[in-house]
Amino acid sequence: MKAGFIAVVGRPNVGKSTLINKLVDEKVAIVSNKAGTTRENIKGIVNVKGNQYIFIDTPGIHKPKHLLGEYMTNSAIRILKDVDAILMMLDGTQEISTGDQFVMERVLSAKKTPRILVINKIDKLNDEELENKREEVKEKLGKFDGIVEIAGEYGIGVPQLLDRLEMFLDEDVQYYPEDMYTDMPIYRIMTEIVREKILVKTRDEIPHSVAIEIINVEKRDEGKDKFNVNIYVERDSQKGIIIGKGGKMLKEIGTEARKEMEKLLDRPIYLELWVKVKSDWRKKKPFLKELGYFDEK
Ligand code: GDP
Ligand code: MG
Repeated sequence: MKAGFIAVVGRPNVGKSTLINKLVDEKVAIVSNKAGTTRENIKGIVNVKGNQYIFIDTPGIHKPKHLLGEYMTNSAIRILKDVDAILMMLDGTQEISTGDQFVMERVLSAKKTPRILVINKIDKLNDEELENKREEVKEKLGKFDGIVEIAGEYGIGVPQLLDRLEMFLDEDVQYYPEDMYTDMPIYRIMTEIVREKILVKTRDEIPHSVAIEIINVEKRDEGKDKFNVNIYVERDSQKGIIIGKGGKMLKEIGTEARKEMEKLLDRPIYLELWVKVKSDWRKKKPFLKELGYFDEK
């Protein structure tokens, strides 16, 4: 068996998490149309034709504005030197920006790591637009060891991408058992599911201000276990939005999240959501640690 670690990096919203989910054929990384959806490195493990590809989804690399943002960008940058290959992803429907170039500089600074450029969302491009994109890449980006064009959401170009990566895998190793598709603990996936429902249903500043924590699980010998989950926001106004008129929004979030959790756990549960205000939690180190968003260095 051959195996290797592949980091997927790029600015927010280019489609990194969507590709990882498609590759593992399970939802390991939450997805939304909002920047900052992914907050930490998440592994998606793919076994095909005797090869094990361990993809690492990363938070979008951007200029951080608070401690959480710093943690997010640093987690993405830190692993670049420790992987067997880097996939740098672009959104093919958008002009290459200073944001993409910011990412590229970080990628190029991991000098020895092979790097492949991935142009994503080609389902939205016609032949001429794709040709123009190739030209733009030549003009604006540095040297890569290969370019692959894909539409991750639809699996277009994904087999070719795996073929292209095969040469970077190490011989005679297997890092994970074949039935394992992520290293994320199940409770972490559950809190991420709640966060995704909030992200998808709310707008503006809410998504970035939300953190989720499972407070406890009341085990019941007969009947369903009850999960008590806190939703932290930074201001009273945000609490109001998440609860909604007569509690409608919170109810919807709870129902959708519970259904997905039940699928994940393969059993029915009770889910109780509590909304708490914790001002400026994104700047507070002890709280970030409690939520698992901080590494001691
Ligand atoms: P990330 O921030 O890089 O992880 O991006 P996400 O995976 O969260 O995706 C951001 C948005 O792009 C979502 O709305 C996805 O549905 C969309 N998206 C991802 N891949 C594709 C693709 O191949 N084609 C199209 N048309 N949209 C995509
Ligand atoms: Mg993501």
